[in-house]
Amino acid sequence: MSGTQRGAPDRTEPLLFELGAPGRCGVDLPEPTGAATRLGAAERTAKVGLPDLDEATVVRHYTRLSRLNHGIDTAFYPLGSCTMKHNPRLHEKLARLPGFADVHPLQPADTVQGALAVIDEMARWLRILTGLPAVAMWPAAGAHGELCGLMAIRAAHEASGEARTRILVPDSAHGTNPATAAFCGFQVHKVQENPDGRVDTASLKAALGPDVAAIMLTNPNTCGVFESDIRAMADATHAAGAYFYCDGANFNAMIGKVRPGDLGVDAMHINLHKTFSTPHGGGGPGAGPTVLSAALAPFAPLPWVLPGDGGELRLQEQAVGPAAASFGRLRAFHGQMGTFVRALAYCLSYGRDSIRKVAEDAVLNANYLRAALADTLSPAYPGPCMHECLFDDSFLDGTGVSTLDFAKALIEAGFHPPTVYFPLVVSGALLVEPTETESRATLDDFIETVRALVARARGPEADGFADAPANAPRQRTDETRAARNPVLRWTPPGTCGSTS
Ligand SMILES: *Cc1c(COP(=O)(O)O)cnc(C)c1O
Repeated sequence: MSGTQRGAPDRTEPLLFELGAPGRCGVDLPEPTGAATRLGAAERTAKVGLPDLDEATVVRHYTRLSRLNHGIDTAFYPLGSCTMKHNPRLHEKLARLPGFADVHPLQPADTVQGALAVIDEMARWLRILTGLPAVAMWPAAGAHGELCGLMAIRAAHEASGEARTRILVPDSAHGTNPATAAFCGFQVHKVQENPDGRVDTASLKAALGPDVAAIMLTNPNTCGVFESDIRAMADATHAAGAYFYCDGANFNAMIGKVRPGDLGVDAMHINLHKTFSTPHGGGGPGAGPTVLSAALAPFAPLPWVLPGDGGELRLQEQAVGPAAASFGRLRAFHGQMGTFVRALAYCLSYGRDSIRKVAEDAVLNANYLRAALADTLSPAYPGPCMHECLFDDSFLDGTGVSTLDFAKALIEAGFHPPTVYFPLVVSGALLVEPTETESRATLDDFIETVRALVARARGPEADGFADAPANAPRQRTDETRAARNPVLRWTPPGTCGSTS
C-alpha cells in the first residue's frame, strides 16, 4: 500500500475567506421591499465581514479540510498513552439520540431521568470495575480528574487538621501529574525509576514523610510496564498517612483484570475518551471520572446523583446533608453527556463477563508488535509489555536519522507516528500503543513498513529522512512558534495587520 492509499492527507486548503467572492451566493431571494426595519439604531450598517459563498464550495471546503488531518478513521494511529481506538458507529448513533444530545443542564431533574440513569449506571460500572466505592463523574478530562482527586485529598487532610505540602511523582509520569500537583499548591518531589522501567520502591519509601500528602503513580506506567510492587508502595504510603493517587489513563491495559481498589488506590481518574472510546484529540471532548476510596468519598465534588424519596434520581447541588463535606463544585453544570453515553454503550456491548477482552487484546496486540519489532527497533526494557511498548533510539545509532525524522517518515508512509520523546526517561523514545481494535493485518502492515524504514535509514538513502514527510500538507512545522505565537485571525490581504 502507498502512503496516500493508507491515508496520508492529499492537499492543502485555502480559507473560506480566500474562496469567497463578492456576490457569490447559494440562495437567490429578492431584496425585501416595503418592509420598514424595526431595528432602529440597532441596525447594522457596517459590513459583517463574512465571505460570499455558494453551497457547493462550502461543502467541498469542509470535506477537503476533514481529509487534511490524520484520524483514527483514516488509518492506524498508534499514539502511545493516548489510546486512539476505533469509535464504534453504534455508540455515535446512541450519543446523537435527541434525549441525550439535546439535554439541557438547566432542565428540572424530573425531565432528565433517563440521562441521570445513564450517568448513574456508568458510575456503577466504574465502581465495580475499580473496586472503589464512589466516583465523581464530572471532571472534563484526565487532567481535570487529577485535579478532582488531589482536591479531595487536600480536603481530607484539612479535615483531619493536617497541612501536608508534598506530592511524590516518578520521573516517568505524564506531564499532567506534576502540573496538577503544582496547580493545586503542592510541591512536587521526583522519584527515580530503576533500570527495568519501574518506580524504585526504596527511593519512594525514603521520600515518604509526615509532610507528604500523596503519591501519584501510573499503572501500568508510561514505560508500558506493570508496577509489580504496587501493593508494597500503597502500604508504605498509607503507613505514612498519605494517599495513593493513581493515574488511570492507562486503564485500558487492566480493565476487568485487576481492580485498582485491591491495589490500595485511593483516587484514580479514568479517561472515558481513551479506555471506553470517544473521538478525541486536540483538546476534547472527553471525560475523566475520578473514583474515590471510602476515606475520600465524603469530599467528592458536587453535584451528587442520589436516589430521591420516590425512587427517582435527584441531583444534590448543595454541600449539606450527605454531601456536607464536599469540596464544592469542580465545574459549571454536569459532565460530558455524549461521552457517558458512548462509554456505557462500550461497556454494554462487551458485557460484564467479557469486558476483560479489552485488556487482553490490547496487551496481546502491543506484545505482538514488540516481539515482531524487537530485532528491528530497540525495546527500552526487557520482557513483555502491557498495552503499549516503548523503544529507545539506539536502533538509529550511526544513521544520522533522529526519532523525529523517523516519525516524520512514518507520516509519509501513511501512519500516524507513535508518541515520540515521551516518556523522558529513555533516549529518543517511541511509545507505540496499537489498542485492541486493530486487526493483525494492520499490525503486520505497520511492522513491514517500520522494517523497510529502518533498512532505508541504515542504507545510503538515509538522506531522504531529513525532508520527510514529502507528501503531507505540512512538512516540518515550527511547533514551538505555532504554540507560542498562534495566528488565529484572518485579515484581508493589503489591510493593516494582515499576515499573508
Ligand atoms: C492522556 C493522559 C492524561 C491526561 O488526560 P487528558 O484527558 O488529556 O487531560 C494523563 N495521564 C496519562 C498517562 C495520559 O495518557
